[in-house]
Amino acid sequence: MAGAAPFAYFCHAMSDLSDPTVTLPSGERVPQLGQGTWGMGESLRKRKEEVAALRLGIDLGLTLIDTAEMYADGIVEEIVAEAVEGRRDECFIVSKVLPENSTRASTIAACERSLRRLKTDRIDLYLLHWRGQPRLEETLSGFEALSDTGAIRYWGVSNFDVKDMEELYALEGGSVCATDQVLYNLRRRGIEAGLLPWCRDRGIPIMAYSPIEQGRLLCDRVLTAVAIRHQATTAQTALAWALRRPDMMAIPKAATLEHVRENRAALDIRLTDPGPRRARSRLPAAKAPTSL
Ligand code: NAP
Repeated sequence: MAGAAPFAYFCHAMSDLSDPTVTLPSGERVPQLGQGTWGMGESLRKRKEEVAALRLGIDLGLTLIDTAEMYADGIVEEIVAEAVEGRRDECFIVSKVLPENSTRASTIAACERSLRRLKTDRIDLYLLHWRGQPRLEETLSGFEALSDTGAIRYWGVSNFDVKDMEELYALEGGSVCATDQVLYNLRRRGIEAGLLPWCRDRGIPIMAYSPIEQGRLLCDRVLTAVAIRHQATTAQTALAWALRRPDMMAIPKAATLEHVRENRAALDIRLTDPGPRRARSRLPAAKAPTSL
C-alpha cells in the first residue's frame, strides 16, 4: 500500500482478541509479533535479565524468537536455549546462517552447530542472513538436505531485494522460501515500492527487523505526539504501525521486562483512520525501491 498514511490515529482495540498471526506459505500460522535478540549476549552481567525478558515474552505469546549464529558469536543462541528450556514446543525459533558459511556443506555444518547451541533437534525457520559469494544453488541445496532430515522445518532469506528474490525463484525449489526478513519501519520504507508487493503477489510474508529503528524512532517528535494523543508509547506506536499489515511480522528486540510488556501491548492498539498531513509529509512512503 505504497502512498498510504505512514501512521494514523490509533485507538485501543479490544484486548480480548486473540493474538494476530501471519500465515506462512505452508499454511502454518505464526505470531505476528515476535522477539529479536541482536545485541544480547554482550555482557555476562545482563544474561539473566535477557533470558528473563525472552521468557516473559513467551508467557505473553511472543513465541516467535529470532536469532542468528552471528549474534555474539553464537552466545545468543545459547541464551535462547535457556529461555525456551522446558517450553520448546511452544516456540517458533528462527536462526540464520552467515553468507560465509553458505555453501551446501557449510550450511549443514553451521546448522548443526546452531542446533547444539540452541539445545534443540530442529530450527523452525532457517534463513540465509544476507547474500554472499557462494551460489544460491549451494545454499538451497543445503537447506533442502536439512529439511529432509528434519533439522529445519522451513527456510527463507534475509536482506534479499527483488533481484535476489527473482534469482532465487528461478531456481528449482526456490519458491518454497517462507519469508524475507528485511529492515522495515516508519523511516525505512524502501520495500514498499518493490519488494513488498513482489512478495505479496507470491504469498511470501515479510519479517520486519529493527521495527523501532534500534531505538532511534523513540526520539521522533511527530511519532511521539501521535503516541501521546492515543495513550500509547512511542515504541508501541512504531510497532503498531509495522504490524498494521496482516502479512507482516515484526521482531523488536527488548532486553528488559518493562519493554517486553510494553511491546506486547502494541498488539492492542489498532490503526483506524488516516493520519495527520504533517506526519505524512515527514515520514513519506517510498516512491522507488531503495537498497536494503
Ligand atoms: P529494534 O528492535 O528496532 O530496537 C531495539 C532497541 O529498542 C533496543 O535498544 C531496545 O532496548 C529498544 N526497545 C525495545 N522495546 C522498547 C520499548 N518498548 N521502549 C523503549 N525502547 C525499546 O532493533 P533491532 O534489534 O535492530 O531489530 C530487532 C531484531 O531484528 C534484532 O534483535 C534481530 O533479531 C533482527 N535483526 C535482523 C537483521 C538482519 O540482517 N536479518 C538486522 C538487524 C536486526 P532494550 O534492549 O534495552 O530493551
